[in-house]
Amino acid sequence: MQFIDPHIHMISRTTDDYQRMAYAQCAAVSEPAFWAGFDRGTAQAFHDYFRQLTDYEPRRAALFHIRHYCWLCINAKEAENVSLSREVIALIPEFLKKPNVLGIGEIGLNKNTANEATVFQEHLDLAAKTNELILIHTPHLEDKYKGTRMIVDMLKNDRRVKPHRVCVDHVEEHTVKLALDNGFWCGMTLYPTTKCTPARACDIIEMVGTERIMANSAGDWGKSDPLAVPELIQEMKRRGHAEADIRKVVFENPLAFWRQSNNWREW
Ligand SMILES: [Zn+2]
Repeated sequence: MQFIDPHIHMISRTTDDYQRMAYAQCAAVSEPAFWAGFDRGTAQAFHDYFRQLTDYEPRRAALFHIRHYCWLCINAKEAENVSLSREVIALIPEFLKKPNVLGIGEIGLNKNTANEATVFQEHLDLAAKTNELILIHTPHLEDKYKGTRMIVDMLKNDRRVKPHRVCVDHVEEHTVKLALDNGFWCGMTLYPTTKCTPARACDIIEMVGTERIMANSAGDWGKSDPLAVPELIQEMKRRGHAEADIRKVVFENPLAFWRQSNNWREW
């Protein structure tokens, strides 16, 4: 079955990963801007990163007939530095017209600090002014519920935000309804140990259904698996889910969300 991985950091994966994903019928990926494992010192470093996401990486993916899209922002971890964040946000508009850019992301909170919230709001402001889609990172583990609540409140307090143009990512059992009941799309991140395992993701689908929900590997430089979405396909098949329902979660839903982006060109 063809699948889409709507959240994976391919710059930190090898070319062999692209090959394995292609063998497993990956049709497309989207790569949110993220923390690279170290704090970057200058806005110029982000400019180079945005060039990598909009120019180099789509060409590497195309060698394996995988379509590559991306999201731009300064991530919540580096957003603690507000002045650097403002310089980086000012760089984003020149990249928004690049054909593989889907919107602003992954923005959100990391430690739920005041500086992170300030930078989050300034990203929302940019997204509102440019009418971009938004991809939200929610914090991990013990901060997740509180952080997701804070983010949903900030989104709801901004009247310019249209929930159907926002995806709240890394949801789990205790946050999935916060996203869906407020009209947002949501993403489940499949990790071998922390976050959702494919079995837990399957439980969540059985709990909330298949509307406005998708799954991703969030593969990066840490321990993660670029074939996590195919593993969810296997788990759903094993439990007897209909082919059409599986395809909706792993292919049609991410595509329907992306189709709303300003630069979208039909395949
Ligand atoms: Zn990520």
